Amino acid sequence: LLQVWAPLNFLGFFYRELRQSLVDMEAMFEVLSTTSNVKDGTLELPKNKNIDATTTTRSNNGASISFKDVSFEYGNGRKILRNVNLEISPGESIGIVGPSGSGKSTLLRIALRAYDATSGDVFFDGYNVKDLQMKSLRSAVAVVPQDAVLFNDTLEHNVRYGRPNASDEEVERACHAAKLEKTIGDLPDGLKTKVGERGVMLSGGEKQRVAIARAFLKSPRVLVADEATSALDTATESQILESLEEIARDRTSVFVAHRLSTVMKCSRIIVMRDGEIVEQGRHDELVDLNGLYAKMWLAQQAEELSVKLEKEVELGV
Ligand code: ATP
Repeated sequence: LLQVWAPLNFLGFFYRELRQSLVDMEAMFEVLSTTSNVKDGTLELPKNKNIDATTTTRSNNGASISFKDVSFEYGNGRKILRNVNLEISPGESIGIVGPSGSGKSTLLRIALRAYDATSGDVFFDGYNVKDLQMKSLRSAVAVVPQDAVLFNDTLEHNVRYGRPNASDEEVERACHAAKLEKTIGDLPDGLKTKVGERGVMLSGGEKQRVAIARAFLKSPRVLVADEATSALDTATESQILESLEEIARDRTSVFVAHRLSTVMKCSRIIVMRDGEIVEQGRHDELVDLNGLYAKMWLAQQAEELSVKLEKEVELGV
C-alpha cells in the first residue's frame, strides 16, 4: 500500500507546490520577463516571522523595505529610475503616485525581483533581495492586482489559491475579511459554486474581493495593491479599500494608484516623476506643499466636479 501511496502523495505535494507557484506567479506583476536575467539567491527569510492568520491578536509584523541609490533601465538606454532612495519601515502604509510612466510599477518589480536594479540595491528586512530565494521573498508578499485572475473552479478553490493548505475555517475567515459573504449567500452552491469563464461570472468588485481573500489567507508581511481599485466605481472602491486597509493594518503595505483618494489615508505618500521621488509626506502636508501632488489633487477634484455637473445637466437638475 505504501508503495502505491507514496508516489501519489508526492504527486499531491507536487500539485500543491504547482498551485502555490501559480499564486506566486500571479503575485508578480507579470511572469518573469524573458529579457530579465535575475538569478535566484540562496537565503531564506525566517519563517516564524509570518503572521499567523489564525490568531486574532496580531502585532505589527510587517517587513522593512529599503531602496538604496536604485537606478534602472529596461535595456534601451532610457533611464526609468534615477537614484531612488526610499526607506519603508515595518508596518508603514505607503502610497505611490505620479504621472503615467513615472516608474511606479518598475520600482515594485525591482523589489519583487522581476528585474534587478541596473545599479543600487533593495533590502527586504535587511536582506539584499538578490541574496534571497525568490520563493521565500514572494511568499512574504501578497499582491492585489488591478484585475484578479479567476480560475475555472469553485469559489472556494479560487480563494484557497492564497494558501493551498489552509483549513476550511481559515478560508471562511478570509471570505469574511474580504466581505465576500453576501456574494457567497447569493450563489447557488455557495462557496462550492463554479466561478470564472465556465461558471458564474463575478463582477469586477467581487473579483477584487476574491483577490483580497487570497491575500488575507496568504497572511503576508507586505501587502501590495497595484491599481487594485482603479477599475471600480467610487462607491465600490471605498468598500474594497476598507477591506484592504484592514488587512494592511498590521503589515507593511504599498498602494500604487492613479486616483489620489486611494492613497489619501496612507501614512506616507511618495510622489514620482520621471523615475525620481520628487515629494513625500502625508496627504495634507503634500497639499500644503503646493507642488506636483497639489496639482494632481486639484486636477482630480476638478475632474470629479465636472463629471458631477455633466450628470446633473443630463438629468436636468
Ligand atoms: P502607469 O501609471 O502608467 O502604470 P508607471 O508609473 O507604473 O506607469 P512603469 O510601468 O514603471 O510606470 O513604466 C515606466 C516606464 O518604463 C514607461 O515609460 C514604460 O513605457 C517603460 N517600460 C515599462 N515596462 C517596460 C518593459 N518591459 N520594457 C521596456 N520599457 C518598459
